[in-house]
Amino acid sequence: MDGTDVKEPLLAEARRLGFAAAGITSTRPFAEARRRALRAIDEGRMDGMPWYTRERVEESADLRRRYPWARSIIALAWPYRPASAPGASPHGNGDGSTVRGRMSSYACLDLDGRPVDYHTLLGARCDALVAWLRERHPDVRAKRFIDHGWAMDRAIAERAGIGFTGKHASLITREAGSYVMLAEILLSLRLPPDSPSKRGCGTCRACMPACPTGAIVAPGVIDARRCIAYLTIEHRGAIPLELRPLMGTWAFGCDLCQEACPINARLAPAPLEARSATTVSGPVPFPDLVECLGLTDAEFEQRFRGTAVWRAGRAGLARNCAVALGNSRDVTATPALERAHSSDPDAVVREAAGWALSVIG
Ligand code: SF4
Ligand code: SF4
Repeated sequence: MDGTDVKEPLLAEARRLGFAAAGITSTRPFAEARRRALRAIDEGRMDGMPWYTRERVEESADLRRRYPWARSIIALAWPYRPASAPGASPHGNGDGSTVRGRMSSYACLDLDGRPVDYHTLLGARCDALVAWLRERHPDVRAKRFIDHGWAMDRAIAERAGIGFTGKHASLITREAGSYVMLAEILLSLRLPPDSPSKRGCGTCRACMPACPTGAIVAPGVIDARRCIAYLTIEHRGAIPLELRPLMGTWAFGCDLCQEACPINARLAPAPLEARSATTVSGPVPFPDLVECLGLTDAEFEQRFRGTAVWRAGRAGLARNCAVALGNSRDVTATPALERAHSSDPDAVVREAAGWALSVIG
């Protein structure tokens, strides 16, 4: 099946649906990305992510092994808005009543004013794009990936020409800097591929010293075990003691390397509007840490089910908030930390609260 005529209208439709950038690449294997991924496993940089196996790398580097019908890949980048005040005071809301932390801005997506998980949002947009294509090619087969380890999203995006990987290891697009989430759609339709981006960071290194935990161990190479985004979202159990003081007040994710990037300073979408500190209506960029520390399972579910924060779990978020409150050194958090230390149902949270109390003194 050949889709030469439909390529440009398809990419235009992707942009009409809200994607910042869209491009096409072939399904030939991603040899360089495979080599880098296997090296990350061999060097232990993916420890703690047991699902990230060699077998998974092999299959995702050559999608034709699982999807022999595939002929093309659409690479898509969805823009999201950075926090309203990058570099703002890490705690306090100005009136001394609330200790505010940070949540990664991608977690604060909303759709028509309601918080939404990016998998849900991008899934719906990808499905709409496939439906549009099927009106013209009814027999086309399609399989979408959204932040899915079986597809090498950055390698696909780079080869499809929608951006390049910065030294902070995120894809940088012309349209929205690195404030994008990636999606891919495999198609049985053969479409003419785009050319890879020729751009790069040049001599800039601004993101590397901006990382407080030293997780950017070389240009484009992240040691996940040290990355605050990994520690606050994926990591289960206690956070290593030596990393806790370096984590600032991040309750979920981390945007510091993106905020340091001069390209983002020029290209990032308009920032999120100021929001209150309460998470009663879902994730906010500067959340009330004491409130999040004390949530019950039911409250956590009511606020965060269907959002990115759900992945951390109630205990994971409470653990992160305890560490963040310790780093805030704000004595007004002491009663909440004492409650969590003595009565949180999760031993990891109790321990983290004890650590925070010892830091605050
Ligand atoms: S997300 Fe944060 S911790 Fe991870 S590499 Fe970037 S600055 Fe470092
Ligand atoms: S801060 Fe500089 S080195 Fe880092 S990703 Fe941006 S342009 Fe590249």
